[in-house]
Amino acid sequence: MQKDLVAKIESLKKEKKVVILAHNYQRGEVQDIADFVGDSIDLSRKAATTSAEIILFCGVLFMAEAAKILSPGKVVLLPDLKAGCPLANMITLKELRQKKKEYPGAVVVCYVNSAVEIKAESDICCTSANAVKVVESIPQDKEIIFIPDKWLGDYTSRIAKRRLILWDGYCATHLKILPENILLLKERYPKAEIIVHPECTRDVIEMADQALSTMGIVKWVKESKATEFIIGTENGIIHRLKKENPEKRFFPASVLAECPNMKLTTLEKVLWALEEMKYQIEIEEDIRLKAKKAVERMLEI
Ligand code: SF4
Repeated sequence: MQKDLVAKIESLKKEKKVVILAHNYQRGEVQDIADFVGDSIDLSRKAATTSAEIILFCGVLFMAEAAKILSPGKVVLLPDLKAGCPLANMITLKELRQKKKEYPGAVVVCYVNSAVEIKAESDICCTSANAVKVVESIPQDKEIIFIPDKWLGDYTSRIAKRRLILWDGYCATHLKILPENILLLKERYPKAEIIVHPECTRDVIEMADQALSTMGIVKWVKESKATEFIIGTENGIIHRLKKENPEKRFFPASVLAECPNMKLTTLEKVLWALEEMKYQIEIEEDIRLKAKKAVERMLEI
């Protein structure tokens, strides 16, 4: 059954000249049919540089939007429009405008996990990999509003040694990873390196050997001499880690760290998306241009 689905997807993909991009948190079988697997910005860059005219994005809405921001002339498809991001939804345009009024002159740094309208209202974007660098690039005399993830903001503030005005947003999936989970696994696997994502809480990050973005985790694991790893992020990444490092062992910090939105994309939906060319992402041009400015400022750093 799965073989048939994969064969149909492969043939349709070739026939329609579609490139399939999948985020590191997608289901294993979805990652396996993708042309590229990576993090959101990595994949948006791939979308912009590929010669394919149609991009099928297996991820959540803000990621497909990010691809469209950088590739307006291409068709960007998201297999399930309900695949949103609760973290991205924790800030509205009205709320952000109100915050900007409270801190006139502050620079707004916006995590890429945000809607296109929020990016358009921000000065510069950041990812979990470059948030510290982005904050460090802002003159010391400027106040910074960091949206929407308070834990990435808290981590960034500590590393960059800079006071940030934080937004009260969080990723519910990363909050499922608790310090007691790490303690238990550390007792069981004392030689394992503990690698977590900066969307985790401060308690969890302080127990880890490294706090890294998903691509940072992929790179670290490949280069590390350790053979066992406790991974504190969305568990979809473990599929890729195992595939690329078959001799190493991986333990999810919490079995509950599964993002329901990321898991909405299935092989069936990928096939329907290819058959029916849906759902196409559209962004109003003035909003896209403003959001692009914030993304490009980040890419320059
Ligand atoms: Fe959003 Fe968290 Fe899911 Fe990522 S893992 S899509 S930040 S809810």
